[in-house]
Amino acid sequence: MADFTELQLQMAALDELTRDAYVEEVLVIPMDGAAAMDWKRMASRGGEDWVYAVRGSKTLAVDRPSHLAHRNPVEGVVFSPLHSQLVGWWLFHAWRSVDLLKTGIESSSSGTTSVAAVTSRALLEELGCLVTELGLIRKAWETAKLPDVDTVRRAELLGGDLVPLMTRLLFASRMSSKPANAPSATNVLTYISKLDKLSKSSKFSDWYDWLSDASHPAFGARLVYVTNPLRHASGSTALRLHSRSPLRLVDPTGDQVNFTYDIEDRAGAALETCGLLLVEHLYAALRLVDDFGLTTSASAMTQRTYWRNLLPVQPTEACPCKCGPWAQSLHAWRTEVPSSPLITT
Ligand SMILES: [Zn+2]
Repeated sequence: MADFTELQLQMAALDELTRDAYVEEVLVIPMDGAAAMDWKRMASRGGEDWVYAVRGSKTLAVDRPSHLAHRNPVEGVVFSPLHSQLVGWWLFHAWRSVDLLKTGIESSSSGTTSVAAVTSRALLEELGCLVTELGLIRKAWETAKLPDVDTVRRAELLGGDLVPLMTRLLFASRMSSKPANAPSATNVLTYISKLDKLSKSSKFSDWYDWLSDASHPAFGARLVYVTNPLRHASGSTALRLHSRSPLRLVDPTGDQVNFTYDIEDRAGAALETCGLLLVEHLYAALRLVDDFGLTTSASAMTQRTYWRNLLPVQPTEACPCKCGPWAQSLHAWRTEVPSSPLITT
């Protein structure tokens, strides 16, 4: 029987951390030369404060820049918009995880297995998606953080790698009605295969197979309300007991008979394992988002205020991301990127 005590505590802490979080996501849409010139004139006439940077034949522009962004326009149009997207990306995963974990724990604890199965299946997909996206973002961040180049070149590296990646992750869809040029989302089975591969087991795909059948009106869904067959000694009949909730029979002496419910067992096991892995990966992902923000000083380049707009501190002070003393932190160019946890079952 799965034990959700630890998961309940972790979920509550995550809920507390993110309940009031907020970010205004800025997406930079490159303008061609004529449009940029027109906008510059209009913005100037209207007294609006914008920062501009030219990349190739396009101009990038962002409003509400700080003095620092005006002094460093190439970085200003890349670092703070990217950080706002990363914070928004992380919050999506955190809020969705809290919602699913809350419902998963409640439904599993109350014996509402039909809901528990659907929720655990969604948690498997969520974990696979987070693990995959975290790996992609980590790699793109490494590409800009590790080399020995100036910050203008780093902004260009991010513009060529992390910027298109974030656009793809934030807008990818599998809807048949999506525009032809819109990015396609990864198939969920790819996510599940990745979890199997990383854990060197077939546990995730086994859970996913059973819980998918239970999430659709198929054999697995029917198993939710019925015991496994009890075969008569003669072999001539088999008995299945239908009930609203899982049966726990107690005889007059107090001995308990628990029937086996395949879906309930798998929904509970998947919830406990995936839930704890999900929380662990969320904190790893937040370390990466904070590392980006603190290494680039992204929040110092905008007048916008938002959740996790952390700024570098004096060497003797504690790092605002709580990784330890600032002097020993890794929030500096050419230092390693925070690591990702292992997948174990
Ligand atoms: Zn830190």
